[in-house]
Amino acid sequence: MKYFIMFGPPGAGKGTHAAPMVKKYNLKHISTGELLRSEIAAGTELGKQAAALIEKGNLVPDEVVEGMIAQTFAKYPEVNGFLLDGFPRTVQQAMDLDEMLEARDEYVTGVISLMIPDEEIKARIKGRALIEGRADDASDETIANRIKTYHAKTEPLIEIYKDKGIYHEIDGIGSIEEVQKRVFAMMDKL
Ligand code: ADP
Repeated sequence: MKYFIMFGPPGAGKGTHAAPMVKKYNLKHISTGELLRSEIAAGTELGKQAAALIEKGNLVPDEVVEGMIAQTFAKYPEVNGFLLDGFPRTVQQAMDLDEMLEARDEYVTGVISLMIPDEEIKARIKGRALIEGRADDASDETIANRIKTYHAKTEPLIEIYKDKGIYHEIDGIGSIEEVQKRVFAMMDKL
């Protein structure tokens, strides 16, 4: 099994590029954000607790997302691998992922990192708010907190994956087609 991580700040285009990647490389896409949003839509207890955190731009607890990840790993034995989108997002989640994979004699194959500057994050999320209507895209305060959370909690993962020699950064600025070409060119090497 291959385990790819789609990394990057909010609004970098992780979900957009994940869709064609999973088709081309026969991977199962696991988006923790999407999984959480379907819990919210279904009105589950987990969804209710997550909604309050997500709407303020905070992270949900590590054990919640890790439970969802472990369940999805167990469900898809027939794929070539998994594309993790939005996970790991904290140093603890990265360590727990390593442990989960080690238990199955596996490891992270590669981290594809889509990089865009903070100003571009804000502009893209505002554009997306008009189309998708996500609660966490609606207010400037929430967007600012998500950017802050990304820098404080998620960005430190870059050094961890660089040290492991599996970090591959891609310039996320450009048209979807241009960025997709860069992503595929990178994936073909991994
Ligand atoms: P984006 O990449 O635009 O921030 P996501 O759909 O990946 O959007 O995530 C939306 C929200 O869901 C995050 O802001 C966070 O509150 C929550 N979330 C998603 N993944 C995780 C995770 N791995 N750990 C904690 N919270 C998460």
